[in-house]
Parts: sequence; structure tokens; C-alpha cells
Amino acid sequence: MQIAIDGPASAGKSTVAKIIANKLAYIYVDTGAMYRACTVIAKQNQLAFSDEAGILAAIDHDGIELKSEAGQQKVYVAGQDVTKEIRTPSISANVSEVSALPGVRKKMVSLQRQMAGSMDIVMDGRDIGTTVLPRAEIKIFLVATARARAERRVLDLKTQGIKSTKTVTEIEADIAARDYKDSHRLVSPLQKATDAIEIDTTDLSIDEVVEIILEKITAAQKKLVKKS
Ligand code: C5P
Repeated sequence: MQIAIDGPASAGKSTVAKIIANKLAYIYVDTGAMYRACTVIAKQNQLAFSDEAGILAAIDHDGIELKSEAGQQKVYVAGQDVTKEIRTPSISANVSEVSALPGVRKKMVSLQRQMAGSMDIVMDGRDIGTTVLPRAEIKIFLVATARARAERRVLDLKTQGIKSTKTVTEIEADIAARDYKDSHRLVSPLQKATDAIEIDTTDLSIDEVVEIILEKITAAQKKLVKKS
């Protein structure tokens, strides 16, 4: 079974996706981490974030690896652990420019489809239900107000020990700007798939969101068993 979880920044996608993948013993792929790793590669190679050819060559040269170590998702670039760096404000501020490059998207989507193969998988991102796994049995689109998402982002940064001098209002504006860029790019913009289930997580706890999604999965599994 393929489970696609999409939605705007900080809507809770990766937290919820990780819990569901753990509960079901499915593979989990955080596609946002892959675009963030591409942005780290551009930065480390001192390339402009618009330099598509340069970034593509650097991705081929440096390589991106996603590893699961002691239950933790780790991201490596050129063999170096960049798990923390990909979440820094400077990468968050530039990732939408890099992820809008058509060649970068083509490469990442192809890698993501290879990873999914024929495995049971939970994948989160922006275009999973529309482009990467259009035949996913379960498609979820998580939303929440920009304010609630900014408050969550502040907590996340604190938990990860990443310093930010910005106020919640400034972070809210950053999130809204990133959503705008992600929703208005030419290639596979952030968009709810027509067959996705939308869940507004503004006033829901993580456990409540997980519960709703697990119910949908159980119902879909029953349908699949009936069909076979
Ligand atoms: O999910 P996360 O916020 O870490 O994603 C970082 C950025 O990566 C997004 O703002 C978006 O620009 C890009 N992204 C994307 N397509 C995906 C996942 C993420 O364009 N499937």
C-alpha cells in the first residue's frame, strides 16, 4: 500500500507520516528532506540557487543518501551528515527556489519512485498524491492556519536546538512566502489531489490526526481484501 501525505509547510506531515510508518512497519520517505539536501549541495558548492545545470552536476557528484539509523532518519550529502543543517533557516529560505527547478524535480521524482518501488510506503511532500505516486491507495492533504504552523515551527526549531532570532509573526510570514512559491511554481506545484482527503490539523493533536488517517487506511485495506 502506498500512502501519500501532502500539504503546506509545517502542517505536521512528517511527524504524522513517521508515526504511521512506524505503526504499520512501512518505509517512510521525507521528500522535503531531499529538496533541502539539494539546497545544501548548492550552498556548499557556492552555486546560485537558480543554477540548474550546476546544481544537477553537483548532486550527481556529491550524492544524497537517506538512512535510517537507530529509528532516526538521517540525511547525508557527499558522505557527510547534514540532518541538522537541512533544517536551518538559511536552507528553509532558499529551498523553494531550488525545488522549483524542473531538472531538480525530475531527478528527485525519479529517485522517489525508485524508492517506493513496490514497497509498502508512507511518503510526505507537496506533489506525492498528484505526481510522484498518483496511484497511491491513500492520499491525505494536511492543512492548518499559518499562525498554528508558525507556532509549531518555533517549537520544532527549539527542540532541534536550532537558534532563530525571528518572532512567531516573522516565521508566519516566511511560511506564507514559502507556501506561495511552492503553490505557484510551474512544475508540479503544491496542490491537493482531486482524490485526496483534506484534514485541517489546526485544532487537532498529533494523536487525533494519526487516528483519523489510520481509520482511512484500515477502511482502504478492507476494500483491497474484498477486491482480491
Ligand atoms: O516538507 P518540507 O517543508 O521540509 O519541504 C521543504 C521544501 O521542499 C518545500 O517548501 C518545497 O519547496 C520542497 N518540496 C517540494 N516537493 C516535495 C517536498 C518538498 O517541492 N514533494
